[in-house]
Amino acid sequence: MAHLVTAVVVAAGSGTRLGGKTPKALRRLAGKPLVRYAVDELSAGGCDHVVVVIPESDRESFRAALADVRPAVELVAGGSSRQDSVARGLSRVASPYVLVHDAARPLAPRTVVAAVIAELTGGADCVIPVLPVVDSIRSVTPTGDSRPVDRLNLRVVQTPQGFQTDVLREAHEKLAELQVQVTDDASAVELIGAHVRLISGSELALKVTRPIDLVVAEQLLKEA
Ligand code: C5P
Repeated sequence: MAHLVTAVVVAAGSGTRLGGKTPKALRRLAGKPLVRYAVDELSAGGCDHVVVVIPESDRESFRAALADVRPAVELVAGGSSRQDSVARGLSRVASPYVLVHDAARPLAPRTVVAAVIAELTGGADCVIPVLPVVDSIRSVTPTGDSRPVDRLNLRVVQTPQGFQTDVLREAHEKLAELQVQVTDDASAVELIGAHVRLISGSELALKVTRPIDLVVAEQLLKEA
């Protein structure tokens, strides 16, 4: 059956900042691996095909963590950077819409997934969830000089980020041609002149990066 919305979940990072030997996406929250939370919310929000990009050396562990997910997820070997991992996942996408999501954001809610998909089916090129910045921010130079930046003009960018698949494919071709690295896919589509639409993100979509983030995520789960 032809798919409408594919989720590419990037889970091939090593999770060095979190510590431990297990890949970050396989670390557990209340007994369930982070990647499993992400896949479940993407499916519940409306994705009908899920590709998970993994460290090849841990294929068996990922297979076990996702064994009973229906419809079955597709596992693809990741690359040396997030961008490379997204490109590898994208090569498996045949649907008109694609969502790119960090496995490191296990609690991104299905309501945000559904809102991203609604904007895409309404015709948006690219849709990203964002939050306002709550801290005061300074910009620093390598020599240690700094200056304040007006936080009112800033947003924190989350995933899942949604795209017309053709737009994201063309953007990744452009990245390869220009040999530039970006930290998210919305930055890539701007290189080909596509418009990025912002929607409200969620505090629940925090990125599990440092050990304290696991503690916060566990607490959020208890309160959900
Ligand atoms: O490294 P960073 O925190 O930006 O990673 C964001 C997401 O990208 C994580 O879910 C991580 O597993 C994924 N990633 C990947 N392949 C890499 C590096 C990161 O799939 N080579």
